[in-house]
Amino acid sequence: MSSLDAIFFDIDDTLFSTSVFADQARRAAIDAMLRAGLRAERDVALRELQDVIAEFSSNYGNHFDKVLDRLGNESWEGQNRAVIVAAGVVAYHDTKWSKLKVWDDVYEVLKWLAEQPIPRGIISAGITIKQAEKVVRLGVLEFLTPSAIFFTDQVGFSKPNPKLYRRVLEHLDLEPARCLYVGDNPTHDIDPCNDEGWNTVRIRRGGRYSTVDGRTKPDHEISDFFQLRKLLQNEFGL
Ligand SMILES: [Mg+2]
Repeated sequence: MSSLDAIFFDIDDTLFSTSVFADQARRAAIDAMLRAGLRAERDVALRELQDVIAEFSSNYGNHFDKVLDRLGNESWEGQNRAVIVAAGVVAYHDTKWSKLKVWDDVYEVLKWLAEQPIPRGIISAGITIKQAEKVVRLGVLEFLTPSAIFFTDQVGFSKPNPKLYRRVLEHLDLEPARCLYVGDNPTHDIDPCNDEGWNTVRIRRGGRYSTVDGRTKPDHEISDFFQLRKLLQNEFGL
C-alpha cells in the first residue's frame, strides 16, 4: 500500500456545486431588482444577465449595470438606477451567505480527514480574494492546513500550467508521487497533475466539465467524498 504526504483539493465543482450556486444567486438578484422597480420580463432580464456574464466574464465588476444598459432606459425610467443595481448586488451577496456551502459528504469527509496525520490543502484557480472568500464561506477552513492553501493569482501560474503544481510542491518540500489532487476538470486538474507524477482523483458529480474528456485518465474517479474516504482508507491506508 502506498502512502501519502499531502492531499490537495480544487474548489469549484469539487467542494460545492458552482453552477447550481451561481444560478440561484443570479435568479435571486434579478428577482430583487424586479421588486426594486425594474421593468422587464423576468426571463428576459435573466437571459441578459447570463449573456453579460458570458461576454464580460464572471469576474467583471458591473454585471447588473450592464443588464440595465441592455434592457434600455425604459426599464428604470423615473427611478434611481443605482438603487435597482444595489438591490441585485445585495441579493447576490445574501445568497452567498445562505447558499455557499460544501456538499454534506464533503463536510463530513474533510472533518474526518482533519483528524488524520496528513496536510489538507487547496490549489484553486481564480482571483485571490474571490477564491479566499469561498474557502471561508464554505465553512471548511478549520479542516484545512493553513500553509497549504494556494490560489493561482498569488502563485503566478494558472491552471493548466504544470508549473503551478510543481511550485506548490517545491514550496512545501513534497514529492508528487506522495501527493494526491482531487479536482473536477480533466484538462486543468487531472492532465497537468498526471504529467507531473501526482496521484489524481477526478470527481464527477455534474458541473460544466463532467462530460469533458482529458488527454489522460485519472488514477481514480469518484462521484462523492464518501468514495474518496473509502479510497483513502483502502489504497493509502488512512
Ligand atoms: Mg473545479
